[in-house]
Formats: sequence, structure tokens, C-alpha cells
Amino acid sequence: MTTLVPPPSPLRLRLSADALVHNWRWLAGQGSAACGAAVKANGYGTGATDVVRLLGAAGCRDFFTATWAEALAIHDVAAGASISVLHGMRDEDMPLALAGFARPVLNTPDQVRRWRDAGGGACDVMIDTGMNRLGLALDDATSGLLVGLTIHTLTSHLATADEDVPQNGEQLAAFRAAVAAIPHQRASLANSAGICLGSDYHFDLTRPGLALYGGIPRPEAAPHIRAVVHPESQILQLRTVSAGQPVGYNATWRADHDTRVAIINLGYADGYLRSFSGKGSASFGGHHLPVIGRVSMDLVALALPDALDVREGDWVAIDYDLSEASRLSGLSPYELLTGLGSRYDRLWA
Ligand SMILES: *Cc1c(COP(=O)(O)O)cnc(C)c1O
Repeated sequence: MTTLVPPPSPLRLRLSADALVHNWRWLAGQGSAACGAAVKANGYGTGATDVVRLLGAAGCRDFFTATWAEALAIHDVAAGASISVLHGMRDEDMPLALAGFARPVLNTPDQVRRWRDAGGGACDVMIDTGMNRLGLALDDATSGLLVGLTIHTLTSHLATADEDVPQNGEQLAAFRAAVAAIPHQRASLANSAGICLGSDYHFDLTRPGLALYGGIPRPEAAPHIRAVVHPESQILQLRTVSAGQPVGYNATWRADHDTRVAIINLGYADGYLRSFSGKGSASFGGHHLPVIGRVSMDLVALALPDALDVREGDWVAIDYDLSEASRLSGLSPYELLTGLGSRYDRLWA
């Protein structure tokens, strides 16, 4: 019996390993703290196992996931590096949490009790210093709740490190109080933007995500962070749309002159959301190809210059500069990366 295998996908992400490693080294070089990597949400959509393999080879020893399934997926490639699961553990996570290949980040008094009752080993602890998302209140954390736990990494998370606001200094002061009061081996506060706030915020270990993958966390990082993600799509059909004729759902675009159009394999199911309708663009051979009409689930239409020599099956590069795409679409760079979906072939080079 012949085995049927899927063909290469008509859409792909070209992913730059050099840019990823460059970004990690730049972030690591901002101070003397160890630099980890947040690889949750499949490495922000790029492919967590490849990211762990590449950054592990570059010297990264600390990886952060949101869930236990994500931790399990990188366990083999992490090759003994430290894995922390940011969301802690539910009852149903306990078999994996107790297996010892990753540490839970304990966030709630219930999680602390669950871990202690199960005789769990070294763990991490998240202190809420003012974001009011995950983490123990400092009062709870210092009330005896944590006595007897072996805390590997004491953690907190900055809410507004991408802006210059008093909240940053307030969270820093609150975290310093936690660090002074709670026994631990290492302390960790800064995400990508927090690293750019300066070495006061670095403590022993930093946890960048966005900037690794090419997102600009603060303006001062812009000259140093390189793009990692380059989406490309194949042309499925070429046509000429006569003057006056519409393109796409709800006829939101109409040709004002006879216009050559390329229909490409890309749509909102691939994270190319409707907010790019009439705003996004692509390029081919140095030519700018604007998105015309509505983005569909699986298809996008591009206007072509008249003389452009292009065929069905040719690949166009989707303009996906994260800052520019964010400005055009109203999506955050985090959403632009993590929304990329599963239909792309992900090709690291
Ligand atoms: C996602 C996350 C990070 C990484 O943040 P970036 O802004 O992507 O650098 C770090 N720490 C925690 C707790 C997170 O949830």
C-alpha cells in the first residue's frame, strides 16, 4: 500500500535562526543576569522545539512555558536545561508536575498547598507586585505559606514595562521587598521590555519572549532587534479585473481601471486577519503589491503592476514588519506572531 504524504504547504514561514540567536545574545548582553527564553504558545508561533534547540545551542539554559503540554513538547530538545511552567499546576497536571522534568511556578495558595501535600521538590513562585494577574500577594507569601518549600526561582511580572510610568518603579520596589523576605535561589522579574528598563530590573534571570522573535518591546531596542519571521504564500490564480468590477466578499474594492490581480493562499485562518483588508501588502521582485478587498478565510487578493512577470505558483513575500503591520492592522506584535496558525510550513535557515 502506498503511504500518502501531504505536499509542501502553499504558505510558509521563513524563519531566521541567525536573527533569533542574535536577538537572544543582544538581550543577554544588556546586563550580567542569565537570560532565559519564553517559548509559550509554540515559541510565539514560530515553533517551540526549534527555538529551544537553537537557543539551547547558543547557551540558553532556562525556558518558560505556559502549560505542561508545552513543557512536555520541549522536554527532549531542552536537553537538561531548566523548564518552568508559568501557570503552575492543577490537580490534573500533578502526574507531569511530579515527574521532575520541569518546575511549576506556584501562583495561588491552593497551588502551594497542593505542591506541599504531594511532597513536590524544587518549585518556582510568582509574586504579584501590582499587575493583579497571576501570583501570590506579598502578604500571603510572607505569612508562613511558603515555609518549607524549596524555591528555585522567585518571580514577578511587569505590567507596563513598555511605557515609562510610575508603576514600573512601584513593582520593582515591591519585588525587592519579596526578594528580601522570601528565601530563594534566583530572582527573575524582567520580560523583553523590562530588560530595556536597565539592570536594576534584571536580578538573576531575565525572561524575554517578544524581542527574541523580532518584536520591538521599547523604541531603544529597535536598532538592535532583527526580524525573525517572514511569511510567504504561493499565487493560486492570476486574473485581470475589468474597470468597474469588484473583488472579494461584499465587493469592498472595485477596479478603477483594468487591473491584474493575484489570488494567494493566505487568509484569516492563518492569522492574516480581516484588519489587513485594504491595508496589508506583499512584495514580489521588489514590487509593492497592495491587498485589495476583504481578506477571506483562506485567500487574499493582491493588485499587480501591469508589466510584472509573474506566474501561478510563484511565491510572494507578505509584508510583516511587526511594528508596521501592528500600526496598520491594530493588532499587537504578540497577536501578529502567535496568531500565525498551523497551515504554514515553518522553515528555519
Ligand atoms: C509571556 C511572559 C514573558 C515574556 O514576555 P515578553 O513581553 O514576550 O518578553 C515573561 N514572563 C511571563 C510571566 C510571561 O507571561
